[in-house]
Amino acid sequence: MTLLDEYLARTPRSRELFERATASLPGGSTRTTVYTAPYPPYIAEGRGLTIRDVDGNLYRDFLGNYTALILGHAHPAVVEAVEKQVRRGSAFAAPTGTEVELAEEIRSRLPSMERLRFTNSGTEATMFAIRVARAFTGRRLIATFERAYHGTHDGVVGGPGVPDAVRALTLELPWGYADGVERAIRGRERELAAIVIEPVQGAGGVRAADPAFLAFLRDLTTRIGALLIFDEVISFRVGYGGAQGRVRVRPDLTTLGKIIGGGYPLAAFGGREDVMALFDQRRAGALTHGGTYNGNPVAAAAGLATLRELTHAACERLAMLGERLRGAVAGSGARVAVEGSLFQVWADESISAVATGISQAPGLFLALLLDGFYIAPRGMGAIPIVATEDDVDELASAIRLVLARRPETEAAVAT
Ligand code: PMP
Repeated sequence: MTLLDEYLARTPRSRELFERATASLPGGSTRTTVYTAPYPPYIAEGRGLTIRDVDGNLYRDFLGNYTALILGHAHPAVVEAVEKQVRRGSAFAAPTGTEVELAEEIRSRLPSMERLRFTNSGTEATMFAIRVARAFTGRRLIATFERAYHGTHDGVVGGPGVPDAVRALTLELPWGYADGVERAIRGRERELAAIVIEPVQGAGGVRAADPAFLAFLRDLTTRIGALLIFDEVISFRVGYGGAQGRVRVRPDLTTLGKIIGGGYPLAAFGGREDVMALFDQRRAGALTHGGTYNGNPVAAAAGLATLRELTHAACERLAMLGERLRGAVAGSGARVAVEGSLFQVWADESISAVATGISQAPGLFLALLLDGFYIAPRGMGAIPIVATEDDVDELASAIRLVLARRPETEAAVAT
């Protein structure tokens, strides 16, 4: 029996839902990143580390909605905060105290965020950060890095539907390579509004930028009059003060998402007071920033409850669990990149696997799924606070085992 046969046998209800979905949703899906062939498991519920699919299969969830659920599923503190708010109403055409509290909590952890605004997604956060950088500098060009991921708006993706004229406003820079960066922007320094970087790339393979490289970007942007934007939508979870707290480089603007919504749709962008002042609606000519659900009180309550659980001690424990995973997989032929509680499993140590950014083990996701572990199909995962040391050790042994039988795994998936 192949892995695929086994998956098909275990998931008839998911298959049925997927087939139904194809009549309403293109490709049966409403989110590119959660589709896996032949169809993904449909999840019925989650509590703590465990999620259960509609066929009753249980998985230990080491993805947590792509790193957002740092406390695991239905954490009591979050459920209580959400229930309390929901009973008082879910949204108003008016501000609430909760958004003020969440903004204060974020500022206390990220001093570079002198002022911030809430959005509903990381995509909107990077879109507005780029817009305000262009407005502030009066320049149009944006630079991002190879393998970066900043969401799905026109400013940060290419491909069908994005006009060449829009794409031409973005430069791609080489990762970690100061000379290459200088060469890429040479002659266009005065056109550059901002350099956008994930201090720890998420989708690009959980790789941390060298602090010296970030310091170089800080100096460079200051010298040429561009802004430095840290996209910490994923990397904020690597430390109490995010990745910027670890490297002590102060960006002009930062974008956040994922964990600051505690599992609900909420994100943020912010930074220098003089830059963010462009949104001050009391001023003539301010940038507009509408959004029916901006700072939504239910999401803000969930985010606040989550951040309050993430004490210094909790962040240290998460980092310890990450180190534990790294140690437990070491020597198995697998390379696991770990930053805080984020990890990326590479199937082998070959340069090509690292350089292409693609997991070299096609069967990894499916094999781990059948072993009861849920990670991203491309090999990324995140350890939530509810995971025990045993959970991490068991994940590590599953990864070791799967990779040890890799040639068979690939064949089994393929047939
Ligand atoms: N920036 C980064 C670094 C991300 O990883 C993501 C999403 N994974 C985004 C932005 C976009 O966030 P969202 O999916 O909430 O739009």
